[in-house]
Amino acid sequence: YKWVYSFGGGKAEGTAEDRALLGGKGANLAEMCNLGLSVPPGFTITTEVCRWFYDNARSFPPQLEEQVLAALDDVAEITGRRFGDPEAPLLVSVRSGSRASMPGMMDTVLNLGLNDQTVEALARDSGDARFAYDSYRRFIQMYCDVVLGVDDEYFEEILEDEKARRGYEYDTDLTAEDWQQTIKLYKDKIIEEIDEPFPQDPHKQLWGAIGAVFFSWMNPRAIIYRRLHNIPESWGTAVNIQAMVFGNMGETSATGVAFTRNPSTGEQQLYGEFLINAQGEDVVAGIRTPQNLTEEARIAAGSDRPSMEKAMPEAFAEFVKIAEKLERHYRDMQDLEFTIERGRLWMLQTRSGKRTARAALKIAVDMAKEGLITEGEAVSRIDPASLDQLLHPTIDPSAKRDVIGVGLPASPGAATGEIVFTSDEAEEMRGQNRKAILVRVETSPEDIHGMHAAEGILTTRGGMTSHAAVVARGMGKPCVSGAGTLRVDARTGTLTAMGRTFRRGDVITIDGTSGQVLKGAVPMLQPELSGDFAAIMSWADKLRRMKVRTNAETPADARMARSFGAEGIGLCRTEHMFFDNDRIAAMREMILADTEAGRRAALAKLLPMQRSDFIELFEIMAGLPVTIRLLDPPLHEFLPKTEQEIADVAALMKVPADKLRQRTEALHEFNPMLGHRGCRLAVSYPEIAEMQARAIFEAAAEAGKKTGSPVVPEIMIPLVGLMKELAYVKARIDAVADAVMKETSTTFDYLVGTMIELPRAALRANVIAEAAEFFSFGTNDLTQTTFGISRDDASSFLETYRQKGIVEQDPFISLDLDGVGELIRMASERGRETKPGLKLGICGEHGGDPRSIHFCEEVGLDYVSCSPFRVPIARLAAAQAAV
Ligand code: ADP
Ligand code: MG
Ligand code: MG
Repeated sequence: YKWVYSFGGGKAEGTAEDRALLGGKGANLAEMCNLGLSVPPGFTITTEVCRWFYDNARSFPPQLEEQVLAALDDVAEITGRRFGDPEAPLLVSVRSGSRASMPGMMDTVLNLGLNDQTVEALARDSGDARFAYDSYRRFIQMYCDVVLGVDDEYFEEILEDEKARRGYEYDTDLTAEDWQQTIKLYKDKIIEEIDEPFPQDPHKQLWGAIGAVFFSWMNPRAIIYRRLHNIPESWGTAVNIQAMVFGNMGETSATGVAFTRNPSTGEQQLYGEFLINAQGEDVVAGIRTPQNLTEEARIAAGSDRPSMEKAMPEAFAEFVKIAEKLERHYRDMQDLEFTIERGRLWMLQTRSGKRTARAALKIAVDMAKEGLITEGEAVSRIDPASLDQLLHPTIDPSAKRDVIGVGLPASPGAATGEIVFTSDEAEEMRGQNRKAILVRVETSPEDIHGMHAAEGILTTRGGMTSHAAVVARGMGKPCVSGAGTLRVDARTGTLTAMGRTFRRGDVITIDGTSGQVLKGAVPMLQPELSGDFAAIMSWADKLRRMKVRTNAETPADARMARSFGAEGIGLCRTEHMFFDNDRIAAMREMILADTEAGRRAALAKLLPMQRSDFIELFEIMAGLPVTIRLLDPPLHEFLPKTEQEIADVAALMKVPADKLRQRTEALHEFNPMLGHRGCRLAVSYPEIAEMQARAIFEAAAEAGKKTGSPVVPEIMIPLVGLMKELAYVKARIDAVADAVMKETSTTFDYLVGTMIELPRAALRANVIAEAAEFFSFGTNDLTQTTFGISRDDASSFLETYRQKGIVEQDPFISLDLDGVGELIRMASERGRETKPGLKLGICGEHGGDPRSIHFCEEVGLDYVSCSPFRVPIARLAAAQAAV
């Protein structure tokens, strides 16, 4: 069985296609060899060995040793150096590398193969004893840290003592002899710590390092990284063993990293850093400040240290060519590692470079325009979720940040404003045209008006699904939640942050994309909805099949959604139309009425208000479809709750408080979520549905006349479980439509359909479709009713479920494809069996979740509907799902 793949000398056994087997690093090293680039020879131990290692009590498969030795012989052939040979020793690096890039998460050992003998050969061959002993001690330190578990601090301490004793300031002051003596002290320390000498046998060193790389797959930081990035544990890591090249062999040697384009802006310019006379890790470690690659960058940075372009013109010219070649070959922006050993350039790594959302857009659009990739590829390269960052102001990446605290990035975008501690203060500020950041320990439903009035919200307690986080995301407002190091004292009006105190009115900035809280105002970049963003969106629109609508009921939301490209409203919830100040009285009158006539009289007062609401929405949507859901929540939500409120309302309505109290008590339910709500209200009190239908139809007739484009309202009846419920309400609506057409002497089209949000409705979809002209999957309720989990109470145990691996994702955020998804699939199929043209959509939170959108495409829904700020995300995700 083949466990080992070699590369080097202009050819390789693997290719870039083999990343699952060889890991990203190994596959790309092979590819670069095949492209004829100069890559130090080596070989890759496959990810299958990693799986074998963990399946077999952390041991290695048979034949592995034999194959490794043979591969080492191949490297010896190319380099003329043998592993462990005291005269011409081969030194190697042992590098981890998994299928998905996990930068810095796992371990790498450099200079392996050095021991008391080979170090002398290295000194002789390089003509530089100081370099050789420096490399040896680096190796000892790294090997101890990664393989033997001896803390690096011991060695740093010894080194500091040695420098102090000799009166040196820098590591570079140490001579070869100094290093030799320091190494002796290192070795003594190792014996003291682990009762064993530092391994001198290179083969023992090698197997120790290979094992350590496999072990590092399961180190806590790697486990957390995988969880955050959804990387399966089963992928495992590969191990790359590669001949060393030395960037630390004097002034003609160097090491560096580069991006083929600017990773924060996307500009087409070679971008990176290098260090003369240094080894790989030094650039990232920040011990010395690296130098610029290009003269242009050096001048821009105002640096007086030479660029690579100036200091090493030949190697630079060659590197520029290679960078261009690799970008063209991979057809994507590359992140490169290289080393120059005495003037000769070696490539050590290439991979697709990480980039900001802004850079990703620019690079994708530029590359499509350059003809390097197609428009479809450009669309597929953008992570839909990352668009969220672009729809809000963001902090200028070059701005200075004075961070006073960090919390969770609960809702993206950045905002600056004066500190306020109550929602009323936030409203007051807004009244004076001043900007406020609402700072609270946590928020509650009573804070909604303050959250609306504030520019952003900061809480010191609560997670990503806390009230503040959920509401802020819904509003599209920046929010940082759970900033635990901050202390809020609303009584004294202070916010303390690690010793610093801020008061009401002091200006702070929150960055809901990173979770940072910053002092003062910080320069921002405004959202850029034209240019690259618009280009990607227009390409996405050409590719997608599904329509994208929005969930909106206020004119402001509807307008915003249209500016984001919404193609109609998929869910207009009508309950707020009963809650507003001018209507709640009529609504309560209706609820308190003892007779149908009394209810109708009260409803007559509501009719003109609802009609004008709908006219405005229809005008904004100008001929686009608008789905309106009839009244859904239980009636008791409209009645006063506390004794005081009851007394106040009773006085206002001129009814006895007792009567009000009795009615409130009569409407009390043990489980309102499963109580007298949805279509059940329309069945009990058809006059409510009739009034709403009339308001809708009269508005449609009126708006149609005004805008010249006919409105086709889609009336949606919620919480249907039985076909007869739907048929009963639909008959009433149809009668109203006939009446309105006669009265206004117009005709108009309309649809009557239902939300599928109960499992019974999904199961009986073939029968329900007889009475429905469309289905819209109300996946919030469908998830609640399928799981039997109340969304409002789920947070107390869902996180535990996630930690214990019982659920992977919150089913209220990403659709449960196996269960709820199965119901959707079944209902779609059964519904269309009855009515082939049945219009299908989704209007739960999931309508804006990319993974759920892929599923909707697969099932063949006609549209998804989501909150306004998610409309661009849905447009992109729908396009990606279609290609
Ligand atoms: P990481 O994944 O953390 O970047 P790498 O395996 O890429 O780890 O290696 C760490 C550093 O060591 C990099 O800068 C790399 O270029 C350098 N390096 C790795 N192997 C060699 C080698 N054979 N010769 C010289 N430098 C190397
Ligand atoms: Mg690397
Ligand atoms: Mg519902």
